[in-house]
Amino acid sequence: MSLPGTAAIQELRSQLRGRAIGPDDDGYDQARTPFYGGIDRRPAVIVRTAGATDVSHVIRLARDTGLELAVRGGGHSVAGHSVSDGIVLDLSAMKAMDVDVESRTAWAETGLTAGEFTTAAAAHGLGVGFGDTGSVGIGGITLGGGVGYLVRKHGLTIDDLLAAEIVTADGDTLHVDADTHPDLFWAIRGGGGNVGVATRFRFRLHELDTVVGGRLMLPATPETIEAFVAEADAAPEELSAIGNVMPAPPMPFVPEERHGELVIFGLLCYAGDADAGEQALAPFRALAEPVADMLRPMPYPEIYPPEEEGYHPTAVARTMFVDEVDRAAAEAIVERLGTSTAPMRVTQLRMLGGAAARVPNDATAFAHRDRRLMVNVAALYEDPAEVPAHQAWVDGLASTLQRGPVGAYVNFLGDEGEARVHDAYPDATWDRLAEVKRRYDPTNLFRRNQNVPPRTAG
Ligand SMILES: Cc1cc2nc3c(=O)[nH]c(=O)nc-3n(C[C@H](O)[C@H](O)[C@H](O)COP(=O)(O)OP(=O)(O)OC[C@H]3O[C@@H](n4cnc5c(N)ncnc54)[C@H](O)[C@@H]3O)c2cc1C
Repeated sequence: MSLPGTAAIQELRSQLRGRAIGPDDDGYDQARTPFYGGIDRRPAVIVRTAGATDVSHVIRLARDTGLELAVRGGGHSVAGHSVSDGIVLDLSAMKAMDVDVESRTAWAETGLTAGEFTTAAAAHGLGVGFGDTGSVGIGGITLGGGVGYLVRKHGLTIDDLLAAEIVTADGDTLHVDADTHPDLFWAIRGGGGNVGVATRFRFRLHELDTVVGGRLMLPATPETIEAFVAEADAAPEELSAIGNVMPAPPMPFVPEERHGELVIFGLLCYAGDADAGEQALAPFRALAEPVADMLRPMPYPEIYPPEEEGYHPTAVARTMFVDEVDRAAAEAIVERLGTSTAPMRVTQLRMLGGAAARVPNDATAFAHRDRRLMVNVAALYEDPAEVPAHQAWVDGLASTLQRGPVGAYVNFLGDEGEARVHDAYPDATWDRLAEVKRRYDPTNLFRRNQNVPPRTAG
């Protein structure tokens, strides 16, 4: 007996410019493996598309066969959404990029990673802010919002998105910008993969040559954590800061006797004049004698250090927004990180504000711009039997840290159910997304994502 969709997949192979990879083809196991470990889906076919026409063929295949469709860019979905047991539409071979130096804009295909885009734009002294990790795909991070090293200076990634090419559920390719399909343009800036497949983005680029920043590791105490947050808040907007409170990992730059000690692993980036950058970083260096200080002027792409090949962590996590990290919160972080039995655990503090906060909450589908910090609590594990214990630890610490209304960043949500997707999309955003979804994807073809179902009549 043949598998569902076999004939249709055969027919698709003859239409494609790209490559279809089935269970019997070379490279199948590698192609079905996403960044996160513990995800073992066996797609009927993985289609590496070579352009919008291929994408349209794959969408038709999903419609005609009823097989579940997953869309993959960089493969870093925290929820495991970039692979399915049906069809994987894999954009990772689509990496064309066209920089227009004069207008300071670029069209980029969505198979690029943040690191690849950044390196190509830096050849012209230009750049866009993505996240803290170079291997993350520009597709997923942009569609969810994009919070990274330039968040306070230039805003979220979507604040530099000028236009996109979107293939919708009926297979049409649309140019989308503020004037053309403005409803879709609103939805793709924060609404994730709900409303279509983005094949190309057009970004505004900023002058971005040398930055001052990198990694700074400080001892973590309630005092240093509270002060780190206060300094990150008081810093000029050129400086964006992330503080990862965690046991010091056994990395080569950490003295051996300090491995496992609780530290703030700070990731800092000052995008501006080098002297002013040194001044802005000085208060962080002064918080305590650093365990390691690797802050330095650097070409912007070096903010993304090389990554370990074949690293597929398994983790439980909770993403949230808070309005402050007070002393009680800082004390809870230190105390609880000390009690977890996870081989690695972290409380990540990301200062928001600046340019991201000057855009109104309802201007895009990312609705949390008025919050002061994003916090992510995570525990890595090796043995799946330990998941319930680590989940309870994560949830307990997260609820202790909540200050202000509950919210979630869609790009850091795991597979946590509809109520949590609703935390990412408060009522007004949810209703508007559901209406756009009704117009462009009424059958919910794009549902393997942080799903907002189409609004139904009545
Ligand atoms: C190690 C790590 C570090 C991270 N750091 C940051 C950070 O600093 N800042 C931040 O904002 N986020 C960060 N993230 C979260 C990241 O933005 C999301 O996981 C994002 O979805 C990954 O995009 P991707 O293309 O790599 O993933 P994929 O798994 O390929 O895609 C994720 C989902 O996005 C949708 N999607 C992706 N591309 C398209 C497309 N072209 N068209 C339509 N739908 C699409 C699909 O629904 C897909 O399931 C991080 C994630 C990891 C694992």
